[in-house]
Amino acid sequence: METKYIFVTGGVVSSLGKGIISSSLACLLKARGYRVTIQKFDPYINIDPGTLNPYEHGECYVTVDGHEADLDLGHYERFTNVRTTRANNVTTGRIYQSVIDKERRGDYLGKTVQIVPHITDEIKRNVKMLGNTGNFDFIITEIGGTVGDIESLPFLESVRQLRWELGQNSLCIHLTYVPYIAAAKELKTKPTQHSVKSLQEVGIQPDVLVLRTEKDIPTDMRRKIALFCNVAPDSVIQSIDVNSIYKVPLKMHEQHLDEIVLRKTGITPEGEPDMGAWLEFIHKMDNATETVNIGLVGKYVELQDAYKSINEALFHASTYAGRKLNLVSIHSEKINNENAGELLAGFDGVVVAPGFGQRGIDGKFAALRWCRENDVPTFGICLGMQCMVIEFARNVLGLTEANSTEMSPHTADNVIDLMEEQKSISNLGGTMRLGAFDCVLRPESLAAKAYGTTEISERHRHRFEFNEEYRTRFEEAGMACVGENPATKLVEVVEIPDKRWYVGTQYHPEYSSTVLSPSPLFASFINAAVEYHNEKKK
Ligand code: GLN
Repeated sequence: METKYIFVTGGVVSSLGKGIISSSLACLLKARGYRVTIQKFDPYINIDPGTLNPYEHGECYVTVDGHEADLDLGHYERFTNVRTTRANNVTTGRIYQSVIDKERRGDYLGKTVQIVPHITDEIKRNVKMLGNTGNFDFIITEIGGTVGDIESLPFLESVRQLRWELGQNSLCIHLTYVPYIAAAKELKTKPTQHSVKSLQEVGIQPDVLVLRTEKDIPTDMRRKIALFCNVAPDSVIQSIDVNSIYKVPLKMHEQHLDEIVLRKTGITPEGEPDMGAWLEFIHKMDNATETVNIGLVGKYVELQDAYKSINEALFHASTYAGRKLNLVSIHSEKINNENAGELLAGFDGVVVAPGFGQRGIDGKFAALRWCRENDVPTFGICLGMQCMVIEFARNVLGLTEANSTEMSPHTADNVIDLMEEQKSISNLGGTMRLGAFDCVLRPESLAAKAYGTTEISERHRHRFEFNEEYRTRFEEAGMACVGENPATKLVEVVEIPDKRWYVGTQYHPEYSSTVLSPSPLFASFINAAVEYHNEKKK
């Protein structure tokens, strides 16, 4: 079949969950046997979100091919089980960079380089890039930002042109918000009408409207919206608040979003999407009664999205373990050796988060010391793993000054040190050790048991590493380096075999956890936490 292009735009306000709607549609189309991918076009000038701090942009997601990406790509993978790459996330910055490079090379043959057609052509080329591989039936393109923003205009102009060129092989879904005014006890459709008008002004007629709402939108109100916006009444769909994002695909299917998209792109829908495994997951989620209590130690606890993939990976694992996840964030700046016991005693397991820089680092050491000494299941991820190594060096090996050269460049015991390949780099963007690398695990390790294999591949995002010179001393004192990169011999996993579950990974296993294929290491951690929970109860 010819590749179909679905564009998803948003209006009224941001944060409506375009990513979740795009992912839900992709999930349904995939369950109908189509080959689907989702890409996001972000209208900011940064080349990628790698240099943005979590206050600006939540978590930075990493693709297998080492691209620092918008966190929505995490949703795309979690909902579809399809790996994304660098091609799935393009920013205004990337578009301009490429056009300016071409201009400098003389590719435009003396022409004046303009937003239309040069920037828009470059956007269109990028929109079609994945489609041209022949690997996908559906390309869902999410346009970041809100209709009406100055920044998104070139993207919308490109969508307008593409819709014209592609005809029935394309479709536009517009997501808006229908606010409930409590004082008047009324849902209001005006913002939706205005937002559709703005879209029409730039020449785009949406085919489907998805209305975000906290209350059920009555049929006559949907009809009214349909009438005012030139959209078929059955193509006005509501997306009402649910207790889990993973229920959104089911809600969309109830209202036939997948069938509407198929019909409007010239395909006769046959049968039903196979959502069996997905429904089983939802069933487990809804029927879990007992909880597993996990503490997450990090410095961005007030930000909902800073540790998105970790939260989701813990949730997948807990759900499969038949438990409700009770995840409590503990600010690393508030923990010290005196209060660690008080703050951490109630947890069945503790995760020490990734991160950069000095702030909150002492709290991570204090938390890890308490967890290690009290034998609580503990999971250190990236900086969390590096902190495990430093804490062990200080309090077990007696190297009181041990540190990472990230925090203390001239430390006497640089148990964590800058990687050789990082030493000559001065640019910050896209220069870390990024993307998936192979790792070989010791057969008797907890990690190997968890994965059920000794050969794995996981994603990385770091500059510093375990210092090889100290390896024997750690091994002799009881911290085992059980995972290493087969080519470079970099240490990727450490464990204390004497403990219940004390594992640190230099990589980020959370990035590859999806609903249908949860991370084995997170599963093993949660199982250990559940066991510990039961032991404590006895
Ligand atoms: N700051 C550490 C490094 O660069 C860890 C990075 C992380 O946790 N993602 O190596």
